Amino acid sequence: MSIIQMSDALANKIAAGEVVERPASVVKELVENSIDANSTWIKIDITEAGLQEIRITDNGDGMSEKDTDKAFLRHATSKIKSETDLFHVKTLGFRGEALASIASVSRLTIKTSQGDDAGTFLSLEGGKPLVKKKSDARKGTEITIKDLFFNTPARLKYMKSLHTELGHVTDLLNRMALSHPEIRFEATHNGKGLFKTSGTGDLLQVIAQIYGMNVAKKMLPIKHSTLDFSIEGYIAKPEITRASRAYVSTIINGRYIRNPALTQAILRGYHTLLPIGRSPIVILAIDMDPILVDVNVHPAKLEVRFSKDRELYSAIEQTIKTKFREITLIPEMEQKPKVKDKSIQHTLDFDKVFKEDNARNNEVAGSQQVIHDATPSFSERKSNVQPLDEQENTKEIFSQPINEMNEIKEMEAEPIKEEAENPRVPPMYPIGQLQGTYILAQNENGLYMIDQHAAQERIKYEFFKEKLGKPVNESQELLLPMTFEFSKQEAIFIEQYKEELEKVGLFFEQFGNQTYVIRSHPNWFPAGFEEEVIREMIEQIMNEEKVNVQSIREEAAILMSCKRSIKANHYLNEDDMLRLLEDLRKTTDPFTCPHGRPIIVHFSTYELEKMFKRIM
Ligand code: ADP
Ligand code: MG
Repeated sequence: MSIIQMSDALANKIAAGEVVERPASVVKELVENSIDANSTWIKIDITEAGLQEIRITDNGDGMSEKDTDKAFLRHATSKIKSETDLFHVKTLGFRGEALASIASVSRLTIKTSQGDDAGTFLSLEGGKPLVKKKSDARKGTEITIKDLFFNTPARLKYMKSLHTELGHVTDLLNRMALSHPEIRFEATHNGKGLFKTSGTGDLLQVIAQIYGMNVAKKMLPIKHSTLDFSIEGYIAKPEITRASRAYVSTIINGRYIRNPALTQAILRGYHTLLPIGRSPIVILAIDMDPILVDVNVHPAKLEVRFSKDRELYSAIEQTIKTKFREITLIPEMEQKPKVKDKSIQHTLDFDKVFKEDNARNNEVAGSQQVIHDATPSFSERKSNVQPLDEQENTKEIFSQPINEMNEIKEMEAEPIKEEAENPRVPPMYPIGQLQGTYILAQNENGLYMIDQHAAQERIKYEFFKEKLGKPVNESQELLLPMTFEFSKQEAIFIEQYKEELEKVGLFFEQFGNQTYVIRSHPNWFPAGFEEEVIREMIEQIMNEEKVNVQSIREEAAILMSCKRSIKANHYLNEDDMLRLLEDLRKTTDPFTCPHGRPIIVHFSTYELEKMFKRIM
């Protein structure tokens, strides 16, 4: 074996393997170059998902003839000059390998001019210069990539369907446009408009242009600065959610990046306001001194490393939490829950005594902690707080921040599941209601606390599951057609999976760019939840590339059971409580709600007696 030094051509091809994974990566590198060149307008024209042609035109600084030659050499960059520069990167590019890599796996032409003189035209094939000549003097650059991967057939084989590749391109362009509201983006695919942004610098406008007006209307602005970071952007109210994380965009110093820990911090900010398995829509632009962020950890610069990561994550989480506190507290202070029963007051005090007592006797239960988290979603909570007639003490409780409400962490008790041999719940009799949220019940085995919302969710869930489970594939004509607005990316998937959707009974008629009309839907669609189910299907298609009716029905059952169930802070009379407990006993799984949270917590007579030192 003998060692040889690779030719530049070979080295470029190898580097291309890292930098140029698919058409979307080419678009990313080229658009980043246009942004770095101070463009205020960038046009992206794609043919056949970019596999046939990608053309990026900008009105940026352009290059001189000499620089044009150099730009395609490996490690050629105008953006950094020294090692110290590497720690102060303010541009999106700095590695000087994109143009060389892209050129090495395509047929590339460039027309560029700085505007004062004739421009330069250069063509390359597989990285080798073919033709160079003068061209027009329009200030800016136009780069055209044809036949991507023509000389790397192995890479070509890895390409997914055109629609999948186009999905990646659109996703990327969405994020680029969201990262730079001050730049006017225009994108087309096969000559048809993909999207346009206006470049006015207004992020909310870009959100509307990309995700649609309906989403934009539900976004809340956030803004916060610490000594090290400035955080600004929009977060969606928890009433609109998505199934995938694709709608969370994090932007560091103008660079869209992926960072799971950062996304987690955002999710923590939403706390329990998000239904399980759902993701919010968030666009966060975070600015910081470039010294605090290492952008040189990933060939495509999609990942970064922060030197003050903990501080950053905590600042983000707190900023989001504060926002929700601000907006949810106001209606709750004005409207207080209706609590009439005298016994409630009693149980509240009982609760306090109970906790203190428990704290003193922490040897008692010796059992695991129950974190009972049944906080209903934001929209549910808002609509279910009822006006107060009397009751002053509740004021204090309901003016607490959401995330602190309804938590009875300190209470040590066992979820009944742990101890029940027999899966069915024994008969029990209501004593009263605690905080309008929990039913207290008893029988000879002791005390039970039942989360009324979770209990009803379980009951309804089993009911709807049974109902939706019967497969009748009839369609139902709608008196009034339903109109839906989708994001461009969703629309692309609808087009691609039209047949798949028709098979399950959904016929989308295009009605304008991102608007579709539905005139009929399958019979099993739950009334009042049609839109949710349809959106669920689209999201499933985007994530899994197929529709699984079974799992959609399951989701629909959960959704309906949740929305149709009585919420916390809702007064129940004794009959209501009795009926609920009876219905719960009839379910096949009375112990957890469809989201997996416990429904019943049990304190055995023995435990109670020990707590009160009646037995030692
Ligand atoms: P990098 O962006 O890391 O510097 P690239 O290979 O992407 O490396 O680009 C090489 C150089 O070509 C850039 O540093 C820049 O000077 C020049 N360049 C590339 N694209 C453009 C453009 N659209 N307008 C002006 N200059 C450009
Ligand atoms: Mg670059």
